Amino acid sequence: MAGAFIVIEIKNLTKIYPGGIVGVRDINLTIQTGVFGLLGPNGSGKTTLMRIMATLLEPTEGTILIDGYDVRRDRPQIRRLLGYLPQDFGLYPHLTAFEMLDYLALLCDIQDAAQRKRIIDDALERVHLTDVRDRKLGTFSGGMKQRVGIAQAILNAPRLLIVDEPTAGLDPEERVRVRSLLSELGEGRVIILSTHIVEDVLAVADSLAIMHHGRVSFSGTAAELLEQVAGRVWQLELERKELADIKEQFPITSVLRARNGVQVRLIADGIEHPRATPVEPTFEDAYIWLMGQ
Ligand code: ADP
Repeated sequence: MAGAFIVIEIKNLTKIYPGGIVGVRDINLTIQTGVFGLLGPNGSGKTTLMRIMATLLEPTEGTILIDGYDVRRDRPQIRRLLGYLPQDFGLYPHLTAFEMLDYLALLCDIQDAAQRKRIIDDALERVHLTDVRDRKLGTFSGGMKQRVGIAQAILNAPRLLIVDEPTAGLDPEERVRVRSLLSELGEGRVIILSTHIVEDVLAVADSLAIMHHGRVSFSGTAAELLEQVAGRVWQLELERKELADIKEQFPITSVLRARNGVQVRLIADGIEHPRATPVEPTFEDAYIWLMGQ
C-alpha cells in the first residue's frame, strides 16, 4: 500500500435535490485517519455525502478535495484511488463469488484474465472467502454477500475505501465479522463507513462525524464525543406521573422500568433533585443528546 494516508477536505459542501430537498448543508470537515465513521439516523445525509465523495453525484455548492483532486473536476483521478460499496449493491445469485468478481473486474477494464485471477484471489483472501469462491452467491448469508461487496470495492487496491451501511440487516455475529474485517482493511488506507448504529462506529472508527438533518453536529474522536456530556449525566428514579414534568425540563437519554416507576437518565449542567445521582456518561448518552440539540 502506497505511502501516507490521503487527506479528504470537505469544503462548504451543500447538495440540494430537485424540489428543494436538502441532502447535505454546508459541511466542512477534514478526514485523514484510518477508519472514519459517519454516524446518523436515516435521512441525515450520509449516503449523499458518500456519493459525492465517490464522484457519483454533483454537489450544488462547495466541493471535496481528495489528495488535492477535486470531485468536480478530477473524476478519473479520484476514481482510480477509491473503492465504493453502495448500500444497495446487487449480486447475481446464479454466479459464484469468483464469477461475479471476474465480471466486475472486466467492467473495471482489467482485460488480462491471469491478472484478473490474481487480483480476485487476493481480494477473496482478504475478505476471508477463499473457501467458498466457487459457491453460488444465492447460497450466501447476508454477511458473506457484504464481504463479496467489499472484495469488489478493493479490486483496484484503493487508498480510500467508502462503505455505505455495511452492517445493515446483518445478524449480530455477522456484524462483528464485517466490523473486524474493516478494521483489518484500515491498515494503510482511509476507510469511510456510514452507520446508524453507535456501537458499530465505536468498534472500528478512529474518529467520527455525527450527521443530523444534512449537517455535521459533531466531529472528533470517541473520547471527545464522551467529553461533550462529561459530568452532566444524571440518573434518578421517578414515579411515572413525574416523568412528563422532567421531560419538559431536561433532555432525556433513556427511560427504563424500575421497581416503583421509572429510572431516567438525563443531561443537565446541574440538577436539584433529592434522588438524582451523577453517573458515567455513555456514548449513547452523548449521541442522543446531540441528536436533540
Ligand atoms: P442517509 O444516507 O443518512 O440515510 P441520504 O443521504 O440518503 O441520508 O438522504 C438525505 C436526504 O436527502 C433525505 O431527506 C433524503 O430523502 C433525501 N434524498 C436522498 N436522495 C435523494 C434523491 N435522489 N432525490 C431527492 N431526495 C433525496
